[in-house]
Amino acid sequence: MRHDDLNDIRGKILDRKNKLVDLTQKYISASEVMDLLQEVEAALLRMNNGTYGTCEVCGEPIEIDSLETDPLVRFCLDHMNSEQQRSLEEDLKLAMKIQRKLLPQMDVKVPGWDISYHYEPAGFVSGDYCDIIIPEVNHDHYYLVLGDVSGKGVAASMLMTHLHAMFHSLIPLDLKSNEIMERVNRQLCESTASSQFATLILADAFDDGKVEITNAGHCPPILFSNGNYKELATNGIPMGVLCSSAYNSSFVEMKPGDVLFIYTDGLSEASRNEEQFETDRILRLGKEFKYMESRQIVEAVKTELNGFLGGNPKADDLTIMVLKKI
Ligand SMILES: [Zn+2]
Repeated sequence: MRHDDLNDIRGKILDRKNKLVDLTQKYISASEVMDLLQEVEAALLRMNNGTYGTCEVCGEPIEIDSLETDPLVRFCLDHMNSEQQRSLEEDLKLAMKIQRKLLPQMDVKVPGWDISYHYEPAGFVSGDYCDIIIPEVNHDHYYLVLGDVSGKGVAASMLMTHLHAMFHSLIPLDLKSNEIMERVNRQLCESTASSQFATLILADAFDDGKVEITNAGHCPPILFSNGNYKELATNGIPMGVLCSSAYNSSFVEMKPGDVLFIYTDGLSEASRNEEQFETDRILRLGKEFKYMESRQIVEAVKTELNGFLGGNPKADDLTIMVLKKI
């Protein structure tokens, strides 16, 4: 387990200990509280002697998702009793439900554009942030956001929900794209563990086909136009790394039939044996994109990826977004 993860979890355990100590002072006879306090003390002892995070039955590392959800857990998933397994699974399913509710409407219709996406966590929850935000004022433009938080699982999904909240509170302020990105970056720097960062693209699509793209270290989006393609260069560093990062936007003009394809590295780095999916296959498919609706494009890419993987599991969270000018 990484040192930062361990420190985060130690913080959670100490916090729990303080709360329990408070409780014992109010209800001295509560034996349940004393039992819990003993469990907490035992976890801190395991941290001090270096055995924290290993299963007491098999000695293998305990899954990080389990430790994030319950820092007192002492067994790996295989060696939890069925009641513990059920309770952890319920917690994770609840987290998954909450995350699903944060996703944008599936086939959102906005004038002049056809937009679809595919969002697929590698486990219960995803560290990808996918959003379509329609400002309440100024209805002539729409924001697409796609981010990828470092790591995956519960910790990454918590930062994803944080990103969601920040974008939804900043966009109504009618700021420029680079200002939105700079504010989000600063807040991330000030509020997250130093080990966490996010790559992210903000695309602001206007009715007339103009799209303003601001990219913080994310995989370059691909613009398909008239049978040609162009990978749009990344022009900023990931968010949450340097508080003072500045972001510059670039503009593309999209004509009817043009497609902007945005994805997370769960697509390009999906691998079978030693081979990666890369983007060549997308570029080949792209010749047909102008004849397809955005939903068909998403489905075609999913089919291509699943064919490539041939039943091998996806190791990372996957998100694909397609913005087509109509
Ligand atoms: Zn075990």
